[in-house]
Amino acid sequence: MSLDGTYDAGNIFAKILRGEMPSARVYEDDHVYAFMDVFPQSRGHTLVIPKHSTARNLLEEDPAVLGHLFGGVQRVARAVRSALKPDGITISQFNGAPAGQTVFHLHVHIIPRWEGQTLARHGGGMADPAELKILAEQIAAQIS
Ligand code: AMP
Repeated sequence: MSLDGTYDAGNIFAKILRGEMPSARVYEDDHVYAFMDVFPQSRGHTLVIPKHSTARNLLEEDPAVLGHLFGGVQRVARAVRSALKPDGITISQFNGAPAGQTVFHLHVHIIPRWEGQTLARHGGGMADPAELKILAEQIAAQIS
């Protein structure tokens, strides 16, 4: 899917928001929902999405929603830092399939990084749900 198109309410993240699909929840407020990526590129890979949005990508989003979204990204990234003590954190966001986007509900990746550790492939192996739940709880405990 390129940058053109319409929002599909059947996408995976919309289903997670409606409670139709499970997720390892890290944080939620009136505007954003954060949960563990099930195909993590590193330990603690977390996603943050707007809750009330039909934007497929950043270009389509209301700037006011982006403000809330990135406020949530900062809050969760700080909690990831406290919980997992990474050496760095990659924040990424893809727009359109040619750019690497696979789920077409706007989302931001928080990917903890450690010195000397290469990232797993984007959309690589699936994580153990039990381990993701533990990580989600560890990060959630550091939300301030
Ligand atoms: P992107 O490729 O930027 O669209 O990112 C989509 C992300 O969603 C990828 O990193 C996937 O690993 C992740 N993902 C796909 N399905 C699920 C799911 N059911 N729960 C959590 N993360 C998912």
